[in-house]
Amino acid sequence: MPLLVMKFGGTSVANLERIENAAKKVQKEVERGYDVIVIVSAMSGETNRLVGYVEGTSKLYDAREYDAVVASGENVTAGLMALRLQEMGIPARSWQGWQVPINTTSAHGSARFVSIPRENLDTKFKEGFKVAVVAGFQGVSAEGRITTLGRGGSDTTAVAFAAAFDAERCDIYTDVDGVYTTDPRVSGKARKMDKIAFEEMLELASLGAKVLQTRSVELAMRYNVRLRVLSSFEDTDENSGTLVCGEEEIMESKVVSGIAFSREEAKITLFTIEDRPGVAQAIFGPLADAGVNVDMIVQNISEKDYDEAHPGAVTDMTFSLPINQVERAKKALEDAKAGGLIKYDELIIDTDVAKVSVVGIGMRSHAGVAAKMFKSLSNENVNIKVISTSEIKISVLIDRKYMELAVQALHDAFGLDKV
Ligand code: ASP
Ligand code: MG
Repeated sequence: MPLLVMKFGGTSVANLERIENAAKKVQKEVERGYDVIVIVSAMSGETNRLVGYVEGTSKLYDAREYDAVVASGENVTAGLMALRLQEMGIPARSWQGWQVPINTTSAHGSARFVSIPRENLDTKFKEGFKVAVVAGFQGVSAEGRITTLGRGGSDTTAVAFAAAFDAERCDIYTDVDGVYTTDPRVSGKARKMDKIAFEEMLELASLGAKVLQTRSVELAMRYNVRLRVLSSFEDTDENSGTLVCGEEEIMESKVVSGIAFSREEAKITLFTIEDRPGVAQAIFGPLADAGVNVDMIVQNISEKDYDEAHPGAVTDMTFSLPINQVERAKKALEDAKAGGLIKYDELIIDTDVAKVSVVGIGMRSHAGVAAKMFKSLSNENVNIKVISTSEIKISVLIDRKYMELAVQALHDAFGLDKV
């Protein structure tokens, strides 16, 4: 039997009516001849409510018990979905993570998959069951404790099952009808894409386009799982939504396929650091130890004998980071200075920045993308503060108040509104 994985996010199972609506989509695939593994999230808002219970009970909570509580939201929807399918005459059974078993590491709250043995589910399919409904987001550690994969983790559960069971496709049903060239709330001209390459999706996901959990895309790319994002609120068929797939499936791709952005950025500059081997390590080591996710890094060219107080070579270092990590970063750097690890005269924090990125696999073989991007920003009088590039992405840090303007201008400049 060909097999499909269908994942329903929180809004798609938010109440009994929506669960029924989702079950009808499963029924359609069963009627087409598929065995189906359904992965469900908790009803929307439920995981937040459970996290609130934990935090309201214990400030420094035991992560094992956190997982025991927050994993329960998915148990409810898995059981309800199986019941609804049975009501429709479809042989279905629910599975919690430990029953499959979904073996994970014991990193509670952010566990990773170790293995998903097929035996138990395969046996049930052989017995005539058509649907296995699996609770997303959870697993079991070698110690036999319930684990969770981190927020948004049921996307990753879905991809892992698609890989383990050689599914024809992994359909992610959600509250949007696909992946857009940029956020439609920012540019009215945003367009739904039919296909997008894994690597592009990865850049868009990690740059703040919150459609799929980044880890799920990484996993899909590694195991070549064809991933489809589509709406559970619309009538859908084989061509609906956006297919996230290997480059070889995309015949003709644009040079730039999407514009991503992230509002919650900040930048820190250290003035007059020494320019000698080991200084970058002395700065970024303590930041890493403090759990700061540094993103873009710029080091100026150095000046020799800057002034009497700075004999030898000095330079400045600027880096960007999530805005909510600024305090932590500041403390780590001040401590490093106090401990004599690093020297600087001034630490300047800028919390009014946003990051805008253009992404596209076509960039690998086309020159001039950066020039076009910078021209478009300069036409709008947007000043660029930091630039970074990778093979398929160019990112700039700009004043936050110009973010929308920049996204719209770039979307136009790269013709993303046209097919
Ligand atoms: N329910 C979990 C969460 O909200 C997992 C998921 O829905 O992906 O994070
Ligand atoms: Mg989600």
